Amino acid sequence: MTAATGAGDTLAPMGDGLVDLRSDTVTRPTPEMRRAMADAEVGDDVYREDPTVNALEAAFASRVGKQAALFVPSGTMGNQVALRVLSEPASVVVAGRRQHVVVHEHGGGGRNAGIQFHAVSDDDGTLSEADVRWALDATEHHHPRVTLLAVENTHMHAGGRPWSLEALRAVAGAARGVPVHMDGARLFNAEVATGVPAATYAAQVTTVMSCLSKGLCAPVGSMLAGDEDIMEAARAERARMGGGMRQAGVIAAAGLVALNSMVARLAEDHRRASRLAGAVAERWPDGGCEP
Ligand SMILES: *Cc1c(COP(=O)(O)O)cnc(C)c1O
Repeated sequence: MTAATGAGDTLAPMGDGLVDLRSDTVTRPTPEMRRAMADAEVGDDVYREDPTVNALEAAFASRVGKQAALFVPSGTMGNQVALRVLSEPASVVVAGRRQHVVVHEHGGGGRNAGIQFHAVSDDDGTLSEADVRWALDATEHHHPRVTLLAVENTHMHAGGRPWSLEALRAVAGAARGVPVHMDGARLFNAEVATGVPAATYAAQVTTVMSCLSKGLCAPVGSMLAGDEDIMEAARAERARMGGGMRQAGVIAAAGLVALNSMVARLAEDHRRASRLAGAVAERWPDGGCEP
């Protein structure tokens, strides 16, 4: 596919006007991000003395309506830290069978948190209340204890579908007090697509992870947010996993730009993706592509 790559375009150009559509990770930082990185005030974040990291954590926490947030090198680390804080070894985490945390983290759940997944159907990107209830009830019948429920919003393998607020409320309710982690790698895509504010989604869950490095096109980094005490524990887990960073303000500066000025542009991505899907569906009607 060819496309105009105008000034400040965040898609990675491949030459000859080609645009790389393998993933929304193959983006480039904007000129505003590069300037912010060059000018970033920094300190040692392991001592919590990096003002730019502190500003990013505060901005993200406030954006998703949580008490505190933690800057992590990757979305995978955000999910793994959440598993380590909220679940317990030899217990069960209920999640959709195609969720990133189940299939794309190199078995990290078992390795890092000692958990096993009870993987349920997530064909439409959501989990069903009935499946969640079944998993919880199974504990009464010699199944391991369920310590965490994990959902993904938007759900990558279901074609990037967002959760409806009603479905999320229902499933979070069915969790009966068991904590819920939201892998919101693309939470802001969900916000832009549905009009449900990120904070409203996040209010339904215990912790939320979101990537700055996907469609928001920051070069590095993800955020994890939740209550103050949970984030304190998360900070220690991040250190244990080797994710403590020093003058990380250099990359956090790009994250702040991502959060403050790139969310609105996701609507452009959605329009383009929908146009492309429409063209593909027209050409290959049986190809399974929905505009
Ligand atoms: C990309 C992604 C992650 C992990 O992010 P990385 O920064 O690549 O580790 C987690 N969950 C989902 C749904 C993702 O798409």
